[in-house]
Amino acid sequence: MLIYHNPAHRMHAGRQEMFRGRLVPCHEAPERLDHVLAELRRRSVGELCTPVVADMDLVRRVHTPRYVEFLTHAWGEWVAQDPANAEVDVLPSVWPVRGFRHDVAPTNFAARLGLFSFDSGTPITSGTWEAAITGAACAIDAARAVSSTGGPRAAMALTRPPGHHAGTDHFGGYCFLNNAALAAETLRDAGAQRVAVLDVDYHHGNGTQSIFYARSDVLTVSIHGDPTTEYPFFLGYADERGQDAGEGFNVNMPLTCGTDFEGWSQALGQALDTVRRYRADALVIALGVDTFEGDPISRFRLRSADYLQVGQALALGGLPTVFVLEGGYAVAELGTNVANVLEGFCG
Ligand SMILES: [Zn+2]
Repeated sequence: MLIYHNPAHRMHAGRQEMFRGRLVPCHEAPERLDHVLAELRRRSVGELCTPVVADMDLVRRVHTPRYVEFLTHAWGEWVAQDPANAEVDVLPSVWPVRGFRHDVAPTNFAARLGLFSFDSGTPITSGTWEAAITGAACAIDAARAVSSTGGPRAAMALTRPPGHHAGTDHFGGYCFLNNAALAAETLRDAGAQRVAVLDVDYHHGNGTQSIFYARSDVLTVSIHGDPTTEYPFFLGYADERGQDAGEGFNVNMPLTCGTDFEGWSQALGQALDTVRRYRADALVIALGVDTFEGDPISRFRLRSADYLQVGQALALGGLPTVFVLEGGYAVAELGTNVANVLEGFCG
C-alpha cells in the first residue's frame, strides 16, 4: 500500500474551537498525524511517499470556484483588516439560514466567512489553505496510483485537516476540501464507471453526500452516530436516498450512541453488501476512527483490536481502494487504530 502523507499538515494548527459553549483547544491537532506516521513506520505498514501539486481544475470541479477563491485568500484578507488579527484564528459567527440569500457574496469578510461555513468549530489559520490543498494532492495522487496500470491495489491519503464534512461551497466539522470526493472524482476520471465512497467515520459524511447527491456514478454510504443527537445534526438520516439521477445512490446508516463492535460490524456488512450490489469498480474509504471507545467527542465503543477486523472486511471485495484519513481524536491511540485497519486490509 502506498501512503501519501501530507508534509504541510502542520501548517494548519488551530488554537481554539467553539465546543459545547466554550472556546477549547482544537481537537483536530497536528499531533494526530504524528502518531499515525510513527506507528506506520514502527510496524512497517505501507510505503510512505509525498504528493505532487494538486490539480486545481479538479479541485474547482468538486468545489465551486468562488469557494476555492475565498479559501485561498481568507487568511490574507483577515490579516489585511488588522495586522493584530495575525495572532487570532478566524472563526465564523454569522450565517445565512433559511430565507437569506446565498447567491450574493457580500464584500464584508465576516459575512462571506459565514456564507462559506456552517459551524464555529473550524478555525482558519495562516497555513490552513496550504495544508488543505496539499492534502487534496494526497487524495488525488492516491487515487491516480490505484488507477494506474501495474499500480498498487490500495493507497492512502494520510492527511489532515480531514475532508468529509466539506461540501461544494462550505467548510465545517474541521474540514475544508473534501478529500474523499476528490479521490472519487479522480477514480472516475481515470476510467472507473462506478465508484463507491464508504464513510466509516463516527460522524455523517454530509459534505460527501451533498457533493454526489444527484449522481448515480458515485454511490455514497455512511455509517455514523444518529444525527438526532450527533454532529452534524442536519443531515445523515436514513430517508436521505439521493435525488434526480442520484435517487437510490445515497445510503445512510445511523446507529444509536453506545453501539459496540457487534452492532457496528453488522452495519458494515450491510454497507459492503450495498457496495457489491452496486458493482463498484473502485472504493474510497473515508476512514475516521472516532468510532473508538476512548474518543473524547464520539460515542461508539469499538476497541483497538476491532480495527484489524474492519480492515479485513474492507479488503474482501477485492476492489482498488483509496483510504482517506478523516476523524479520530483519541490522539494517543490514533496510530494503533489506523495502522490496525491498514494491516488488517493488507492481510
Ligand atoms: Zn468524525
